[in-house]
Amino acid sequence: AAIPFDSPTIFDKIISREIPHHVVYEDDKVLEFRDIRPQGPIHILVIPKVKDGLTGLSKESHIDILGRLLIVAKLVAKQEGLDDGFRIVINDGPQGCQAVYHIHVHVIGGRQMNWPPG
Ligand code: 5GP
Repeated sequence: AAIPFDSPTIFDKIISREIPHHVVYEDDKVLEFRDIRPQGPIHILVIPKVKDGLTGLSKESHIDILGRLLIVAKLVAKQEGLDDGFRIVINDGPQGCQAVYHIHVHVIGGRQMNWPPG
């Protein structure tokens, strides 16, 4: 099935401030905010302001934004005091349990994680 990356998502409304959210960090390229259903004491989502999926961000010109997502994710983990470790996740597509079709990096921490994930 085609993945609906061109349809609006809730994250568009978060970027445009139409719905309230807790911004952790913002610059001209990325936005970070707390997940509404946290899977740990700390759960932050890092999104690019350009709306696409992991699969769509496959050009040479996307290397910068993909790298930036991980760098800011790592920085926020440090900022939040996750010195004993944390988990970074990107869910992609239906089998990856992606619910919102705008790429986002989950930063989850503050508790012991398990592996493998379910
Ligand atoms: P996915 O399964 O697509 O990787 O994760 C989507 C995430 O977005 C979920 O963890 C969900 O809790 C979060 N989320 C969905 N809607 C909202 C919202 O309106 N506000 C915030 N802050 N997070 C949301």
